[in-house]
Amino acid sequence: MSDHVFRFAPSPNGYLHLGHAFSALLNADAAAATGGRLLLRIEDIDLTRARAEFEVAIFADLAWLGMTWEEPVLRQSDRFEAYRGALAELDRLGLTYPAFLSRGEIRAAIAAFEAEGQNWPRDPDGAPLYPGTERDWPETRRRDEMASGRPYALRLDMARVLAGLAGLTWRESDPFGVEPDTAIKANLAGWGDVILARKDTPASYHLAVTVDDAFQGVTDIVRGLDLKPATGVHRLLQDLLGLPEPVYFHHRLIVDEDGRKLSKSEGSAGLKNLRKSGVMPAEIRLLLGFKRAAIAG
Ligand code: GLU
Repeated sequence: MSDHVFRFAPSPNGYLHLGHAFSALLNADAAAATGGRLLLRIEDIDLTRARAEFEVAIFADLAWLGMTWEEPVLRQSDRFEAYRGALAELDRLGLTYPAFLSRGEIRAAIAAFEAEGQNWPRDPDGAPLYPGTERDWPETRRRDEMASGRPYALRLDMARVLAGLAGLTWRESDPFGVEPDTAIKANLAGWGDVILARKDTPASYHLAVTVDDAFQGVTDIVRGLDLKPATGVHRLLQDLLGLPEPVYFHHRLIVDEDGRKLSKSEGSAGLKNLRKSGVMPAEIRLLLGFKRAAIAG
């Protein structure tokens, strides 16, 4: 067995579709091809959206596809203590601040700005950058407002981070050895003051995924191209928290007939529905462009 550790990390917020199958099977094939390990992680930090029935369906659909993974499966909802520890470390470094503006208040501030004819900057996901209203509050005001009971999110002070950083890259590495490795420069300014934790969730996706990949010893992250820009933020958090640096492979996305990315509600591309309609796992693999009908052994 080699030292490679892969993981497939779905969120139980909906049923899996062909896009998830592609990602899961690529991870399984990559683990088989490199003699590495394959982990499954349930990314259920968003307790308002995660549902037990979706988690059950994830296990059933992946087993049906022929995937096997190590037990026990890590659930992010069991890891809140670890995320709190990472937040405390970032706070100790003086790189976080409590942000009190609600989504509505952020929208209003931006609408007022854009009414003057200028565009407010957006992050790579299309969300407006946070105005940073509280960034320079003195410590006493921060503490008072936090104690007042007003809800807040914790954000990364990106300007302060960038002031102490020469620039970061990550390595894109094809686990099948077809494409040459490349170094990709992280676009950090473009993300602005990313959220690290929310009122009802003790970790953002960025924080949880970074902390858990390190905790589980993941060496090779194979996931969709839609997450490629976010890798800059993950690389940064690894750097700040002193965590090891995995390599990444961002794969093409499976799209519908109109060229749109599949969504969680995709009926006809849903694995559960395909399974019910009598489609076989080998057909799914061939449909997704895999050369072999079974996971490479
Ligand atoms: N949980 C994320 C999703 O379902 C994937 C996270 C990752 O692979 O880094 O989209």
